[in-house]
Amino acid sequence: MSRIDERYLRARLDHTRLSRRELLRGLLHPVTASFAATPPPRQQRETPRPPQAQEETLLARLCSGCGACATVCSNQIISMEHGLPRLNLEHNHCDLCLACTAACETRALAPELPAMTGLIPEFNDNCVLSYGESCTLCQQACPGQAITLPATGLPLVSAEYCQGCSRCVQSCYASGCHMHPLPV
Ligand code: SF4
Ligand code: SF4
Ligand code: SF4
Repeated sequence: MSRIDERYLRARLDHTRLSRRELLRGLLHPVTASFAATPPPRQQRETPRPPQAQEETLLARLCSGCGACATVCSNQIISMEHGLPRLNLEHNHCDLCLACTAACETRALAPELPAMTGLIPEFNDNCVLSYGESCTLCQQACPGQAITLPATGLPLVSAEYCQGCSRCVQSCYASGCHMHPLPV
């Protein structure tokens, strides 16, 4: 087992209070196999993170602050803030390409985690649907079919299907939606 895997297992043990049997299983088998069966729930975050970032406490323990994720992101939406990767989705979207995860050597970004940024769009009265015009841009832009357009009123978004990529926000010419942290 590599030192990175060992560090990861210890952090997960502290964090999730794994049983000794689970720890032993984790030490005997590759990390990905030992935890893939029990992915953690979707994250609610104060700060937007790359899509497969660990929960905040674990992220702070595992991230070395190397900035490799920020370097490989071709959309240039990751910046390092207080030694941790932060997403800025105001002016560009996330492709969900997961190149950032692939670049992370410490498992602070981990491939077994659900890919989501911790943000979700909120629609406002600038949306042209609010005054009776028609538009489907955000719905068309969404890779997860998370947006439905009701007969009247603002678009609706499914927290179950939204991955927080911000394509909807970038597609809107009327500033009718912005990304916000998932409601707790
Ligand atoms: S998934 Fe791709 S576009 Fe999104 S933050 Fe990571 S590297 Fe950037
Ligand atoms: S690549 Fe991993 S360890 Fe390096 S800054 Fe990004 S999240 Fe942290
Ligand atoms: S609603 Fe769709 S396009 Fe908008 S952030 Fe969620 S997944 Fe991305």
